[in-house]
Amino acid sequence: MISVVEAKNIVQSQQANWGIVKVALEESMGEVLAEDIKADRDFPPFDRVTMDGIALSFDAFDKGKREFKVQEVQLAGVPAASLKSNENAIEIMTGAILSEGCDLIIRYEDLEFYEEGDEKWVKINLDEADRWKNVHRQGSDQNKGELLIAKEVVITAAEVAIMATVGHHEVRINNKPKVAIVSTGDELVDVDKVPLPHQIRKSNSIAIQTSLNQLRVPNQCFHLLDDKEELRGKIATILNDFDVVLLSGGVSKGKADFLPEILEELEVEKLFHKVAQRPGKPFWFGANQSGKQVFAFPGNPISTYMCFRAFFIPWLMQNLGRKVELRTAILREAVTFKPDLGYFIQVRSEIGRDGLIEVYPETGNGSGDLANLAKSHAFLFLPPGQQLYESGNSYEYYSFDISNLA
Ligand code: AMP
Ligand code: MG
Repeated sequence: MISVVEAKNIVQSQQANWGIVKVALEESMGEVLAEDIKADRDFPPFDRVTMDGIALSFDAFDKGKREFKVQEVQLAGVPAASLKSNENAIEIMTGAILSEGCDLIIRYEDLEFYEEGDEKWVKINLDEADRWKNVHRQGSDQNKGELLIAKEVVITAAEVAIMATVGHHEVRINNKPKVAIVSTGDELVDVDKVPLPHQIRKSNSIAIQTSLNQLRVPNQCFHLLDDKEELRGKIATILNDFDVVLLSGGVSKGKADFLPEILEELEVEKLFHKVAQRPGKPFWFGANQSGKQVFAFPGNPISTYMCFRAFFIPWLMQNLGRKVELRTAILREAVTFKPDLGYFIQVRSEIGRDGLIEVYPETGNGSGDLANLAKSHAFLFLPPGQQLYESGNSYEYYSFDISNLA
């Protein structure tokens, strides 16, 4: 039996390539950018006025002239007006292209307007100003062709805004795998059914499905009976149609646990079976020649969820090109655990005064106690090789909340 660390290394070293797809910019949020984004024009693309006020000649101002005839008004969104004489000024608005012949903007706060006959005049109440004041010069932020966003970043609203301004209405992103979620077991019925005394409702598939939906990973659920023929036939088709297969149940030592045998018959190479951990010891993992991965989780709902969270999610993130930071949390109550196994203990979390995560064990009634999940927020990984885990030590932390992983 291999250790948790060995199992993780085997899983993480399985490289998958699901290609690149183009999506509408509106759909790109949270995805991993698969192309470099460059400036299609200078930034800003023209000498842009940054204050409402007047545009005028710096030289005239510099020579001491403070009263100017207002030639016209230029709003944003129209072509540049042209200063007819240095005796004139143009009333101009923020966002407008700087009028031709002008190289200074004085803001309204420093101006007084007055009328002379039917002419409008302006008086400047300002002693000093530099050339180009209140003008955001063309190309002063970036030049055309410069790299604005390097690929492999996770797209946020900031990147969306930049891509919008350079006209990327479509964007290339790392493609996600098509995932099949397959539960197995004769005792299982659908969530909307009333189970007979010997039956239970399926909870594994929906926990995985809703998590994948949250990550916007395309998926489909299946349920198969503990029947060799059915398993062999259906899993063969599923392997053909999907990139990754997540199975639950049927990998332990029971008389109806056929999956390890069936998967090998279907030429999925076993990379490991059984991990020295609690819960989730019977976890089976393999891959076939076409580079498709099969995660076969033990059926116990907490085991399934723990293996999905601690093994599958980090692997998925890595292969999507996301850098997932490994989180740790501080244990705040000592734990004694005798078996020589890695222990993914359920914990309740709090954020301490210094912003670090602090956790308290919520062990419940063991790995069959599904309802106990509601009392906890995460799994904390206590490594094997010791029996006492003291309060104050930090351990790997796997939050149930996967909304903010990278
Ligand atoms: P297995 O790994 O197939 O031996 O299943 C272990 C335990 O988990 C059994 O008590 C099963 O009834 C239960 N189980 C298996 N699959 C599911 C599922 N999809 N939802 C809820 N419980 C399950
Ligand atoms: Mg079963």
